[in-house]
Amino acid sequence: MAIQLQMAAQDLHFQTFRNENAKSKEERDALLVDPGFGKVFTDHMVDICWSDKGGWHRPRVQPYGPISMDPAAAVLHYSQEVFEGLKAYRHADGSVWSFRPEANAYRMQRSARRLALPELPVEYFLESIKQLVRNDIDWVPESGEQSLYLRPFMFAKEAFLGVRPANKVNYYVIASPAGAYFPGGVAPVSIWLSTDYARAGKGGTGAAKTGGNYASSLVAQQEAYENGCAQVLFLDSEEGLYLEELGGMNVVLVHKDGTLITPESSSILEGITLDSILHLARDRGLATEMRRVSIHEWRDEAASGNITEAFACGTAAVVAPIAQLKAANFTIGDADAPAGELTMSLRQELLDIQYGRLPDPHGWMTRLDA
Ligand SMILES: *Cc1c(COP(=O)(O)O)cnc(C)c1O
Repeated sequence: MAIQLQMAAQDLHFQTFRNENAKSKEERDALLVDPGFGKVFTDHMVDICWSDKGGWHRPRVQPYGPISMDPAAAVLHYSQEVFEGLKAYRHADGSVWSFRPEANAYRMQRSARRLALPELPVEYFLESIKQLVRNDIDWVPESGEQSLYLRPFMFAKEAFLGVRPANKVNYYVIASPAGAYFPGGVAPVSIWLSTDYARAGKGGTGAAKTGGNYASSLVAQQEAYENGCAQVLFLDSEEGLYLEELGGMNVVLVHKDGTLITPESSSILEGITLDSILHLARDRGLATEMRRVSIHEWRDEAASGNITEAFACGTAAVVAPIAQLKAANFTIGDADAPAGELTMSLRQELLDIQYGRLPDPHGWMTRLDA
């Protein structure tokens, strides 16, 4: 382990292979008008290799393009994979920043440990996103709530059908310009309560950011769409009673006295947006509680007027107000309920910090372009 860290410190030299077919300014500007989410990609990507013998090696920035691998590559069969998601924000003076990237780096290490993948040193993670953003700096949008979404990921590339941790792994970072999550203004969402499916169980991989958790959430997501809902809320897998989280966002309930309540469970992914929102709430003198929350508590306390707001949070949407929770035999709230006041003011404060419109008292922002 000590040897690996030492190597990392010395070995931070990325080789850059420029994309000769990079998009022209005209092509890029056209794509940036309405990029949507996850559909358009920049000209470059980061690629770092790992092997059990050589450790992390050959860090490079290269043209964005297909990854070639053996059909027996372990990830295609056994899903040994983890990923991250964070954004690069353009500030008014043109500089480019990311939000708590070291928290993503540490989380990727925790995810990697759970999936028996090698841990990428934090300084490699940070350098990899800086390298990519510097090469693709013109892809960082300038308007509104737009950003450049960064997607670091790592997977088992070894060609081997036996079941054991792979001894050949690659880490990549790709980048995708992203439009505002709510282009027409923030619209509260309806959420479907899944009772037939769980996303994660005790001792499972729920706390790791790994594709398998998403794969297992998709049928429930389908059920949500069929019921006119945008997202799905999962309950714990043992009793089917306690709130866990959405497919890819954490959930928060707001008490009428301003207390934020968020579920505690070993199978919830620890969101950086959630942690930051709780910080901002405490800075305002509000109480925060992380504890088990049953679906009955939400239903009863909402009915009696004690729980007055609810929202989901994650990097992509920042904060999505929840208008209504729909279950097979009951609902909480109304589909056309307006966004909660505290929900919206915390959302705005976090965005203002991310876009450099407010001071950054916690030192959350890291400059990427200089
Ligand atoms: C990424 C993710 C979140 C949100 O985490 P952020 O760091 O806030 O983006 C929540 N739940 C799941 C399952 C996730 O994968």
